[in-house]
Amino acid sequence: MLTANDPSRKSWINVPANSDFPIQNIPFGVFMANDDHISIGTRIGDTAIDLAAMHQLGYFEGISLPEDVFLQDTINDFITLGKPTVRQVRNRIAEVFDVKNESLQKQADHKEVILFAVEDLQMLMPVFIQDYTDFYSSREHATNVGVMFRGKDNALMPNWLHLPVGYHGRSSSIVVSGENIRRPMGQIMPKDADKPIFSASKRMDFELEMAFITTDGKSLGERINIDEAEDYLFGMVIFNDWSARDLQKWEYVPLGPFLGKNFGSSISPWVVTFDALEPYRTERPAQNNPEPLPYLQCPTNTAYDIKLEVFLQPEGGEENRISESNHKYLYWTLVQQLAHHTVNGCNINAGDMMASGTISGPNPENYGSMLELSWSGTKPLKLSDGSERTFIEDGDTIIMRAYCDNGEQRIGFGEVRSKILPAQ
Ligand code: CA
Repeated sequence: MLTANDPSRKSWINVPANSDFPIQNIPFGVFMANDDHISIGTRIGDTAIDLAAMHQLGYFEGISLPEDVFLQDTINDFITLGKPTVRQVRNRIAEVFDVKNESLQKQADHKEVILFAVEDLQMLMPVFIQDYTDFYSSREHATNVGVMFRGKDNALMPNWLHLPVGYHGRSSSIVVSGENIRRPMGQIMPKDADKPIFSASKRMDFELEMAFITTDGKSLGERINIDEAEDYLFGMVIFNDWSARDLQKWEYVPLGPFLGKNFGSSISPWVVTFDALEPYRTERPAQNNPEPLPYLQCPTNTAYDIKLEVFLQPEGGEENRISESNHKYLYWTLVQQLAHHTVNGCNINAGDMMASGTISGPNPENYGSMLELSWSGTKPLKLSDGSERTFIEDGDTIIMRAYCDNGEQRIGFGEVRSKILPAQ
């Protein structure tokens, strides 16, 4: 039972209007308080909640939890307890912070060690990512990039409508929001040249993505069928998959993404559970032409209505919204991605991260990368300070935000924010 999702519930903690974190969200993250205390926590409004302290003070009594499960620097052990236990914990948190519940509300000494202002905390990487996969599941994005890299006649490769294309990326260069990213150096093939040069990337880009985090999967050799795939989806974060387009274009044949991608990806710090996203299910795009093979066929309500925004903020300037998209535009759904990923017997583990691929929508304002927004540098974007951008410049900060709003309730992911530093 998802009692934590009850839209009528109010918290005794103040929740600002339009907050991404009402009591119906209850995401999980890892924070550092007072420069040295690391704990797993959640958040209501602008108040962070130390789950280790809550556990120590007995607020999770009756739920089978190891003593130190929240005194960790990642949520992997917590995820490993399984979705039913995580569900019990979310429900209990909702209960304790319900305005009608006075157990903690009236305990000043307990509140002192459990509650923190989020502005006083440093958010850390929430999860140890053993393996990272990047899909390529937006038909609009794949088509746009295909047109630019290979021409209109070869835009979508022959396999694209039959399987969720993906590749294995580099998990250890995924960082949390707030960490800056250095512009990469590498090989570039200048237009009309006959040999490459070594240079700082001149086509630095973001990719607007979201990533899901898995629970423990099955043993190597066993597959996760599509009708059970949801049992293995834990939660989601916003994912900015930094890309150096000039490095990428020269190096990607025949094995795909490498140095144009592996210098960094950034994620938002709060992991929003699929339980919390349940009210925001929506219809996926039709898949009739062609129909996928049976192992990839899934119900139509397996997409999520998550509004996505990208902002570019020049050094010392203001935020400019440069894109708005939606997670529901993805052609291949998350259950299809996971079923395909494991259909050959590939194993997955708690904390694996699977990114969606750039999420572009049908119209130019829905494009999820500078490559598409500026159409490979041919259509510069105008910013509010009068300057123009085709790609990202040094000192620019890219901010991505994501939230769901069904008219009755809004929950969200907060943001992922990072600045591009000059090449070294
Ligand atoms: Ca990507």
